[in-house]
Amino acid sequence: MITGSTSGIGLSIARLLASKGYGIVLNGLHDNGTALAEELSDAFNVRSIFSSANLLKLNEIDDLVESANEVFGGVDVLVNNAGVQFVSTIEDFPVEKWDEIFGLNLRAAFYLTKKVWPMMKLNRFGRVINIASAHGLVGSPYKSAYVAAKHGLVGFTKTAALEGAAFGITVNAICPGFALTDLVESQIMEAMKKGDKSRENAVRDLISTKHAIPDFVEIDAIAQTALFLAEGVASESITGISIPVDCGWTSH
Ligand code: NAD
Repeated sequence: MITGSTSGIGLSIARLLASKGYGIVLNGLHDNGTALAEELSDAFNVRSIFSSANLLKLNEIDDLVESANEVFGGVDVLVNNAGVQFVSTIEDFPVEKWDEIFGLNLRAAFYLTKKVWPMMKLNRFGRVINIASAHGLVGSPYKSAYVAAKHGLVGFTKTAALEGAAFGITVNAICPGFALTDLVESQIMEAMKKGDKSRENAVRDLISTKHAIPDFVEIDAIAQTALFLAEGVASESITGISIPVDCGWTSH
């Protein structure tokens, strides 16, 4: 189950896991979800379903987990990926946006983990992979809610790892730097508008202040890291960590 997988990083993880034979539960707010699920089933000969559950609503998360249980008999790998961003000074930051960011980036990850946990315990196997951010490890101005929620997700990862350890459940986070998805595209557009910059300059300014490697993070690099945490011998002994996939950002 990969939340927020109708685009960007989540879709890339879903494609990679499907290519390795995993059944897939796609989720997201785009209306291409059913078509994407069919595409994955056809391309990789796996079972794939789509749920349009809005993860800000707990009853819709309940329905999402119920559909997964009905079709697959449980969730082996949960990727808490759905997330939103909002950029503003603290004094102008709308409280509703703060609540939305916490509701999706942090509360939904907690609640989904809580919902799949009993079955993982029973199976004595589970992989929870939280897509946090470099902003789960360091701060930046104007992203107070996002930075706080992603730091929270890194903290939740550690506690869940400790609670899952006796039951074969590992919990880890991935902390990407800037990857070119819709979430970052809107920040580029905003910077172009605000600073009256060309796209090239907006991208350069965004990346050069953070990344040591002067490029975007490859989305596939994030997906490959998720696969590494999902299966194989290494994944059995790695829990509670947050892996930066950030072109050197957090080495500064
Ligand atoms: P994206 O905008 O392409 O994907 C976000 C996904 O979340 C979409 O599928 C969207 O439909 C879904 N979504 C949004 N609101 C939802 C809701 N209420 N309920 C259910 N689904 C909802 O962005 P992305 O860059 O692929 O982001 C994926 C994750 O990666 C996020 O958690 C983001 O914070 C994190 N991240 C992204 C970057 C980056 O540079 N792109 C860097 C670090 C971390």
